[in-house]
This record gives sequence, structure tokens and C-alpha cells, in this order.
Amino acid sequence: MGMTTLATLARRGCRVLGVDRFAPPHTRGSSHGESRIIREAYAEGSFYVPLVRRAREVWAELERETGESLLLETGGIFWGRPESPMVAGSIATAATWGLAHEILESAELRRRFPFFTVPDGMLGLFENASGVLFPEVCLRAAERLARSSGAEFLTDVRVLGWEAGDRGVTVRTTQGEFSAGRIVLAAGAWLPELLGASPLPLEVHQQTLFWFRARNGALFDPAVCPIYIGEPDEECAFYGFPALGGAAGGVKVALHNVRNPVDPESRDPTVRPEDTARMCAVVARYLPGLEPAPLRAVTCLYTNTPDEHFVIDYLPGTRRVVVASCCSGHGFKFAAAIGEVLACLATDEVPGIDLTPFRWRE
Ligand SMILES: Cc1cc2nc3c(=O)[nH]c(=O)nc-3n(C[C@H](O)[C@H](O)[C@H](O)COP(=O)(O)OP(=O)(O)OC[C@H]3O[C@@H](n4cnc5c(N)ncnc54)[C@H](O)[C@@H]3O)c2cc1C
Repeated sequence: MGMTTLATLARRGCRVLGVDRFAPPHTRGSSHGESRIIREAYAEGSFYVPLVRRAREVWAELERETGESLLLETGGIFWGRPESPMVAGSIATAATWGLAHEILESAELRRRFPFFTVPDGMLGLFENASGVLFPEVCLRAAERLARSSGAEFLTDVRVLGWEAGDRGVTVRTTQGEFSAGRIVLAAGAWLPELLGASPLPLEVHQQTLFWFRARNGALFDPAVCPIYIGEPDEECAFYGFPALGGAAGGVKVALHNVRNPVDPESRDPTVRPEDTARMCAVVARYLPGLEPAPLRAVTCLYTNTPDEHFVIDYLPGTRRVVVASCCSGHGFKFAAAIGEVLACLATDEVPGIDLTPFRWRE
């Protein structure tokens, strides 16, 4: 979120400095792992649709300006129990916005996507408007655009604290103090330590991404395989991708929102055996197109608000500090649009997106 904000502000001619305690793209936070799902029939709430539509436009602009390939359109299938939040929510949002989609029952799901085991009584929504973003490529592209538009960006510099006064904000870092008219705090899992006297009820949970070898690579070719989310029973929410790096690179799948609270500062990034066991059980039960043992795995952080919706707002009591907590495991797709929105808040412009659902909630 910080990088797209930096690029937007620089493109608008603002004098802007970005500071990151590591050197993005890195593997300590929430924006690594090669792929992120983008989808439009948004189960989490129909109010996300304008945000994802704007994000697609801005990702496309970033592609044009940098010559990078950031988004691959694959279509998306969201299937599970008809009453599951993903299926019921996607159908409701598609209806609200009149989005192009198909509804598929179990037999049709089995025919179209033979790499799943689909029990009877399931329902799926397929949409063409889904696809894959490549997060590391997106970050590098946004950084290049930011720098070439005049932004300064300091890596391996940690923000230690800030004080906002009538004249501006003083930011203390490991490389000295900086003064600014406004600051944007988009620190992901580390946001709580920068919020001072106005805490947000955020919980950081470590997640694991797995890559499995496909038994039949042709079925997972991105030309025929969409992104997928499955909620076949109350205990199980999984998602996955085509074989984006060719059959040898494996197929990335993961469980959504595993409860595993961690401190981002002291966490052990090693994959927990119980997470591997749970993932393997889901693969054996619902993804027989994959071999049973993972090729590799990596951990990553969700920073969850209690209702899993984002917070994009001024810090209570001062318009000099803008705050973004846009994870809860589903923020990346929107980053291009959220960068614009945060840039608007930082310059007192009215954003083109309704931010009411994303107001500060203690
Ligand atoms: C496993 C996993 C799967 C996901 N899948 C999807 C998906 O399919 N689709 C989707 O849309 N979203 C998905 N998400 C969510 C999405 O990736 C996140 O919402 C998004 O990447 C969060 O970006 P961020 O900028 O808030 O955090 P980050 O990318 O972590 O950035 C925060 C930055 O702040 C820096 N920082 C922190 N503290 C300080 C400090 N004191 N001083 C200086 N710098 C600091 C950090 O170094 C870091 O670079 C997923 C997330 C995970 C973990």
C-alpha cells in the first residue's frame, strides 16, 4: 500500500519520501509469494466492487507505464456449500452489480474442473473477471515509477516514532529525523507499534503458502485453469492458482485465515507441521489433481481487523496522519486503487471511492 501511495503522490508532483525498514519486495510481511488473486464478484461485500474496478484500471496504467506484465486474466471459480460466505457472498455481489458470471452445480463443476473432488450439493460461481497479480513484480514496478517520478525511497530504515503538531509531523527513524506536512502509515503487520495513543484492534496471524506438483500439468496450465476458492465444509476454506511457473514450478495452494497469532517482530517463520498436515489433508480430499506432499512452503502474515474489512482513514484527532490497514488477507488486489485513495487523503482531496465502510473502527 505504501509503495503505490508513494508512486501516486510522486506522479502528482508532490515532494514525497518513502521509508521501509526492509527492502521490498521482501519476505517478512504480507506481499510476497509470487501470486495474489484478483476477483470482482466480491464475497466480502459489494462495496468493494468500485475499489477493485479502479484497481484494475490503475494496474493497467502501471503496466503501460513500466512495460511490466502485472496481471494475468485466468477467470475464477468460487465453489462450496451454497450457504458458505464465499459462494453466497459472490452470488449476492454479482447480482447487486449485474456482473457477468455463471452458476455451476456439482456435476458441471466436476466436468469443467476435473482436478477437484466436488461433493454433491455444491454450488459454484465462475467469472471471467478474475485473475492473478504478481506481487513482487507489482512492487518493483511501482517503486520504479515512484523513483522516476521524483520520489525518494529509503530502504532498511526503520521509523521509530512520530509527533504531529500544528506545523507538521516530525518522524524519528534509524537514520535521523524528517519533517513532513503529512504522513501515511501503511506498515502492515507492524502498524500497531506506530499508532501511538489510538490503537486499532489488529491481530497478526501467520499463514503458510504451499506448492504441490500437479499429477497432470496440462490441467493446471493457466490457459485453461482459473484461480479457485473452495469452501466445501465449515472447517475448510482453501484457495489456489494455476501452475504459474510451468508444471515443474508446482501449483500454489493455501488455507485461508488460519488462526496462528504471532508477534511480527519475534515470530518463527518456520512452517508448522500441523499446518502442513492440514493442507495435505485438504489436498488429498478436494484436490486429487495434485501430488500429496508439498514441494515447498513459505510463511506470510495476515493483519486482521475484527470484521476483516479495511481501515483507510485519518488517525482520530489529526488530519496530518493517514492510516491504512488493508490486509485481513485480501488487500493486495486493491493496492493500486488504495494508493490513489491514500494519496487523496494525504493531500486533502476527496477520493473517488466511498470510504465509509473503511472508517476508523476501534
Ligand atoms: C498468505 C497470504 C495470501 C494472500 N492472498 C491474497 C490474495 O490472493 N489476494 C489479495 O488481494 N490479497 C491477498 N493477501 C493480502 C495482501 O497480500 C495484503 O493485504 C497486502 O499485501 C498488504 O500490504 P501492506 O502494504 O499492508 O503490508 P506489507 O506489504 O507487509 O508492507 C508493510 C511494509 O511496512 C514496512 N514497515 C513496517 N514497520 C515499519 C517501520 N517501523 N518503519 C519502516 N517500515 C516499516 C515493512 O517492512 C513492509 O515492507 C494475502 C496475504 C497473505 C499473507
